[in-house]
Amino acid sequence: MSQPVQLLNYVGGQWQRSSAGHALQINNPATAQALATVPISPAAEVDAAVQTAAKAFGEWRMTPVGDRIQPLFRFKNLLEEHLDEIARIITDECGKTYAESAGEMRRGIENVEVACGAPILMQGRNNEDIARGIDEHMIRQPLGVVAAITPFNFPGMIPLWFMPYALATGNCFILKPSEKVSMTSQRLFELLDQAGFPPGVVQLVNGGKETVDALLDHPQVRAISFVGSTPVAKYVYSRATANGKRAQCQGGAKNPVVIMPDADMATAARIMADSAFGCAGQRCLAASVAITVGEARHPFTELMADQAANRKVGYGLDEGVQMGPVITAESKQRIEGLIGKGEQEGATVLVDGRHRAAGGFEDGYWVFPTILDGVNPGGEIARTEIFGPVLSLMHAGGVEEAIEMVNNRAYGNMACIFTTSGAVARQFRYAADAGNVGINIGVAAPMAYFPFSGWNESFFGDLHAQAHHGVEFYTQTKVVIERWPREWSRQF
Ligand code: NAD
Repeated sequence: MSQPVQLLNYVGGQWQRSSAGHALQINNPATAQALATVPISPAAEVDAAVQTAAKAFGEWRMTPVGDRIQPLFRFKNLLEEHLDEIARIITDECGKTYAESAGEMRRGIENVEVACGAPILMQGRNNEDIARGIDEHMIRQPLGVVAAITPFNFPGMIPLWFMPYALATGNCFILKPSEKVSMTSQRLFELLDQAGFPPGVVQLVNGGKETVDALLDHPQVRAISFVGSTPVAKYVYSRATANGKRAQCQGGAKNPVVIMPDADMATAARIMADSAFGCAGQRCLAASVAITVGEARHPFTELMADQAANRKVGYGLDEGVQMGPVITAESKQRIEGLIGKGEQEGATVLVDGRHRAAGGFEDGYWVFPTILDGVNPGGEIARTEIFGPVLSLMHAGGVEEAIEMVNNRAYGNMACIFTTSGAVARQFRYAADAGNVGINIGVAAPMAYFPFSGWNESFFGDLHAQAHHGVEFYTQTKVVIERWPREWSRQF
């Protein structure tokens, strides 16, 4: 069998092989077959990319915004043209189904479209005559060199939460993608190369912790965008801000969903199955805990168990498959361990997805849909992000108790409710301690023209990804106060 190819960095408009002595292997999680290797680029290569970006910045920021968005329009067209091919790469290296991969690319493309509105989005403000004959203007200027560090679970979409806004507002951008899924980034950068950005404006540096640390410590990197687990998000936020950088760091999640007794149970269970088991539960907006209220308990539990037991699990490019594998063998082991922990804490494993394999893919990293019933609200499983296809069921007597359970956790990425009562929906929307709220929605993912609003331990920073927040994050405001008395100028 041929050796897997080593992925390249893209620096100064050129593809470069890293000098790294260390490379990691990317495996197809459905087959465990090696697809490629990823270099852990050392600090010297990060420095070279940052220096190149800093040089390119002078010319790029002077390029009119209407011209800066032209390569983004071309990039959007290239993404559309190659959507099928990119979706297949995502499925192969990340494990999700083809429909999920195509869906994430659609969400990514939306961000490119929104960022093409930069001529309006980055406009400033002004007031004439703040005092007689004196005017005041607020201008938005780009920061310089900015970088993003992204996770494994959305290899196509998450880089696009940041890159288009950074570029359209006049910054030079460096991506350090997840070392588990770097093939997608390589393909995105081949398209960025074709789109015609000037050399050094957009660059790719593969790697891991060593590479991230070099970006966090580099004095010429002005801003860091991060998405990943909470411990790493906290670490990146602390180190970047201690070094005087702007930072927006999105972390992990444990998303609760309340099922009221008046909800349409069949619809709620169907939507919840997509939320909890879609992308094998490896979504930061996956439903992780369902809290049934009063009489909702028995019908919902029965319907959910049915949904879990009948979900078709397999290789994401095969017809009819509804759920793929988890990302690595270690991840499978960790998730199965947590299911066992839930059992030890008193939960019943109503549907058990451990120790199973999709037919014909015995070497893959499989965890089938799992339901833990009667999870102890004070236990470890109620608090821990499992990041796998495991739904915990908890029960509450009334809506107040359910809201208390929703708010009694460290994270704040998403909270949802299923109900037919407008009053209960409003009460929930008002009180839920989460940045993204869904009413009769299973995955409350904001469109590209709204901020992705995680709260609490799910987000460290002020300005979120996407839309106006992205534009504000990547620009600094300059306020100019000016006086031009007529008597000072030559008389014409
Ligand atoms: P991760 O934290 O392991 O890795 C994320 C990135 O950080 C990768 O690029 C990785 O190379 C880098 N990294 C890892 N350890 C590091 C360290 N010690 N020092 C410096 N850099 C390090 O996350 P993951 O497993 O790739 O992704 C899954 C996590 O991401 C889950 O917790 C999920 O909830 C979260 N996530 C959150 C959102 C959100 O919007 N809040 C979206 C997607 C994923």
